[in-house]
Amino acid sequence: MENEQTKPKFVSLKVKWALGTAVGSLLISLVVVTVLFGSFTRDLLHQERRALKDNLVTISRQLGEVTTSNNLTSQQVNDLLQKRTAPLKGTDAGKVYQRPVIQGFSNSHLVVGIYNRDQHLVFTTGQLKKPFHAVKDEQIKLVAGRHHKVLVGRIPVYNHQTQRLTGYLQIENNLNNYYQRYQRLLLISGLALTLVVIASGLLGYGLSYLILRPLDDIQTTILALRDDPTKNQRVPELNRHDELAELSQIFNAMLDRMQRYIEQQSQFVGDVSHELRTPVAIIQGHMQMLQRWGKDDPQVLEESIPAVIAETNRMNSLVQEMLDLSRAEQVELNFHDATTPVREVVHQVYNNFKMIHPDFEFMLDDDLRHDEVVKIYRDHLEQILIILCDNAVKYSGEQKRIHLSLSRNLQAVEIGVQDFGEGISPAELSKVFDRFYRVDKARSRKKGGNGLGLAIAKRLIEGYHGTITVESQVGSGSLFRLTLPIVPTNTTPKGAGKGRKHHDKKEHS
Ligand code: ADP
Repeated sequence: MENEQTKPKFVSLKVKWALGTAVGSLLISLVVVTVLFGSFTRDLLHQERRALKDNLVTISRQLGEVTTSNNLTSQQVNDLLQKRTAPLKGTDAGKVYQRPVIQGFSNSHLVVGIYNRDQHLVFTTGQLKKPFHAVKDEQIKLVAGRHHKVLVGRIPVYNHQTQRLTGYLQIENNLNNYYQRYQRLLLISGLALTLVVIASGLLGYGLSYLILRPLDDIQTTILALRDDPTKNQRVPELNRHDELAELSQIFNAMLDRMQRYIEQQSQFVGDVSHELRTPVAIIQGHMQMLQRWGKDDPQVLEESIPAVIAETNRMNSLVQEMLDLSRAEQVELNFHDATTPVREVVHQVYNNFKMIHPDFEFMLDDDLRHDEVVKIYRDHLEQILIILCDNAVKYSGEQKRIHLSLSRNLQAVEIGVQDFGEGISPAELSKVFDRFYRVDKARSRKKGGNGLGLAIAKRLIEGYHGTITVESQVGSGSLFRLTLPIVPTNTTPKGAGKGRKHHDKKEHS
């Protein structure tokens, strides 16, 4: 119960994705909208300010033109208005010039106030909200109003002829127009942002649903295999090419390997117990015989003791070979840096076999120009060669002739071990590298074979990225071919030695 409470809440990747895209697009749109909104409203305010300034300048100039005295009076303002509203005789230029004045006076957003030199109001187009104060120069200010800010402009009026101060002009813009547009823009921006968040969230969810769908398939497969690892279920193939499709493929390949490994393991255990059953049964039989009669019957003793020793020896070699096999699977981890001069080892094995089997005719064709260094641990190369030569001796039959060869191509050294004995049939050729496989079980057993030699050799050589192949014909013999990658050397010794040919008979003579 407690565990369940502390367990973090499950939040689907799709939801996280949708939230992420929504928040991300909200932030981006917020920045964009703020910048656009700011610049648009700034422009709008700037327009209002410029219009106010135009009005201030034009009306004050007109007032300056019409003032005949040194102090403005309401009569003069009325004169000006009447004069300006009556069409001008002559050119149209006057009409253009007078238009701002009339606009300024008639604009519902503007309140025009005209003061005389003594700062007394002589004319107004409405209720002025801000108190007047004298200014020396044109001044436009944004000041706090009742609901929102208002724009107030003031300018002194000078008589054009005398250049003396005759009064002041104050124009107030209540900015209602500006604030109306401001509010509308704010509403549109808010709506746009909400729309963006909803759309991007939905889009993110939909997209993540499509993209992450294979994860559900992978999860289903994992759950099925968790319950039964031998099940044949795999992630369905995806009709697309992306990381998840690749992941599914890798996962399927991993499952194949894992199941093969499990099968191999159980097969190995089965094979081992099967292999051990015979020697154990033989030992058991002999021991029972000894128990019953052996104490008094020297003949039983004579027969049983060597048989028991032979079987324990077999078991011993079987256990040793199984150990070698399991070690051979880890060479890549433990010996990946190891190198060996190949010629030296081949010659050594060749000489040893010549010595141990004097009844055989051994021959070594050495076509190497230098003692190449190959990527393998020395003992392992020796072990592989011994396995192949041992087999060649074991399965040579009457043809007691064994041929070793040593050559190289661009990247690898090739070693051949050939015998001219019984050979292997094509059906069995592919199986001889399998564990515990023996063509003729009884005969091989007699010869002390467990069917593990070639399996060990194959795993070892493949652990060093080499290859092992076999060609054979029943009755004509077999040729096992090894290749091992050469360690590249920069300096090639001069005076490369000629290919040497060894023949034990020749050497003896
Ligand atoms: P074993 O220990 O029985 O020799 P190996 O794994 O070395 O096991 O060989 C597997 C089987 O392959 C042998 O039982 C034998 O039948 C066959 N074999 C191996 N080498 C040769 C060879 N040179 N000629 C004929 N048959 C061979």
